[in-house]
Amino acid sequence: MTQSKAKLIGLTGGIGTGKSTLSDMIRERGYTVIDADKIARQLVEKGLHAYRSIVDIFGEDILQEDGEINRKALGKIVFNDEDQRIKLNSIVHPHIFDYMKYLVDKNIDMCEIIFLDIPLLFEEYDNIREYGIIFDEIWLVYTDRKIQVQRIMERDKISEEDAISRIDAQMDIEDKKHMASEILDNSGRREELKRQLDILFERV
Ligand code: ATP
Repeated sequence: MTQSKAKLIGLTGGIGTGKSTLSDMIRERGYTVIDADKIARQLVEKGLHAYRSIVDIFGEDILQEDGEINRKALGKIVFNDEDQRIKLNSIVHPHIFDYMKYLVDKNIDMCEIIFLDIPLLFEEYDNIREYGIIFDEIWLVYTDRKIQVQRIMERDKISEEDAISRIDAQMDIEDKKHMASEILDNSGRREELKRQLDILFERV
């Protein structure tokens, strides 16, 4: 197995709990973070891997004038319909995990630790393992539900109802807490998150 070199640490959480914020703090320290969302955005660009399958299934109504997928429109469909969400994930996720594994292999000899930011890590845990990505640790970025709702509403300019439906589309964060190796509580200020990260870095 190629993963004997760098330690693999999965970063996850709930929607809007602060994964990107934490990933930025980790990158600032010079570590590599592979970002599943960023890969997903690239894969659905016009002409790329997942693009055609998505258009075939969801129709041309989800396209913008320039032919690119309107991610907001697609998001609206899948956040409100579990079947459609499952369909979309089944198209996009295999490409994401395949590419993540490629990036892990590429970096494995050069890094001490590779972080993988994967929002649906626990939901897709078995799938991810099948792609040969075996985590040494999983860190969960947590906030309580009230703060999670507020932060999503502010960031995405959406209603409370929409924020709640996005949160409910994922596994309950309280359940994820039991499955993580470490929990970083981001209910407070960013500095407090940073402080918890300092402590974890001292250990790893
Ligand atoms: P998603 O799952 O949607 O990708 P995420 O988990 O990556 O979200 P972020 O985008 O990092 O979450 O954070 C959500 C929002 O909350 C952002 O607008 C971010 O700037 C803000 N935020 C993150 N941490 C804090 C904090 N400690 N205090 C105040 N605002 C914060």
